[in-house]
Amino acid sequence: MSRSAIAPRFIGEGRIQFEERTYSEPGDGQLLLRVAANAVCGTDRSQYFQGSAVVPGHEAAGVVIGVGRGTISPVGTRGVVFLMDYCGACRSCLIGATNQCLAKRDDMGFSVDGGYGPYELVHESNFFPISDAIEIGNATMLLDVMGTSGHALRRAELVRPDIESIYIAGAGPIGLGLLVMARLRYGSDVPVHISDVSPWRLEFAESFDGIPVDASNPRAIEAVGTPDIAFDSSGKQLARRAALDILGKRGALVCVGHGETVTLDVSKDLLEPEHAVLGSEYFRYDEMSANLALLEEHQDDIARIISHRFPVERISEAFEVFLSGETGKVLVTQGNHDA
Ligand SMILES: [Zn+2]
Ligand SMILES: [Zn+2]
Repeated sequence: MSRSAIAPRFIGEGRIQFEERTYSEPGDGQLLLRVAANAVCGTDRSQYFQGSAVVPGHEAAGVVIGVGRGTISPVGTRGVVFLMDYCGACRSCLIGATNQCLAKRDDMGFSVDGGYGPYELVHESNFFPISDAIEIGNATMLLDVMGTSGHALRRAELVRPDIESIYIAGAGPIGLGLLVMARLRYGSDVPVHISDVSPWRLEFAESFDGIPVDASNPRAIEAVGTPDIAFDSSGKQLARRAALDILGKRGALVCVGHGETVTLDVSKDLLEPEHAVLGSEYFRYDEMSANLALLEEHQDDIARIISHRFPVERISEAFEVFLSGETGKVLVTQGNHDA
């Protein structure tokens, strides 16, 4: 049995059409969700411009409307979708590193249909239930914003347990997530500098208690001082280089944003100051319960990162506004749901 519904199809060059799409009923271990909202992500850019065979969207929240054999989630369960459909049995998964699964089945929204459509078929293992206290659109904060950022902070702590100052390059949604998560984790005594070239973004970041830094002005970046930890969410070579140049002794640069490269002078950049350069990719499924507790406690503050919400009929407008750079997180919502 299957059902069909209208879903957006990304045909490339920034064009999105609506087409009929067929959704299977959930198989063993699977759940069928009615999607309520999906957050727009910078990573969607490639599908937006190059097109996609599947329905994109990897930051979805929704409600269980169909259950496969071997599942325990009741119909009506609300929750979010973890991007990686991890295997649960490989060496990485067995120690909880589900973001580094060696045999993942799929990436939701990239290799199978994702959250810009009305339905999404997931494995129960990559569905994370939420409590009634969380508004369903706000639940998407658990994904890239809180999850990816929280994981990057934990990566930094692996090499730097005594963090007293932070520099973030890039004040887009991930940069804002890093700022908010750092505030919640370290309190207001730890200064968090955040740089961007967009005055709009800097002002928005300032409203979250970040110290704004004009990324186009090298002197402004130097004035940050010598932060213990730097994060790059911009993906820019220049931004990474600038972060390495100001990093304090024993510091670490954690790269969170995909994009360009960076060149290291091993003696100067790594050996002498004992710097580390780390990558941080998405997050572990088991990090979500602690983040859910944070979201329950600080929902209004964290959800302020969502600056726009568009119904799916206006998904093109959602992308245009998002790509203008003057947004926090943008949600695409589905109508006619009872979440
Ligand atoms: Zn994303
Ligand atoms: Zn695995």
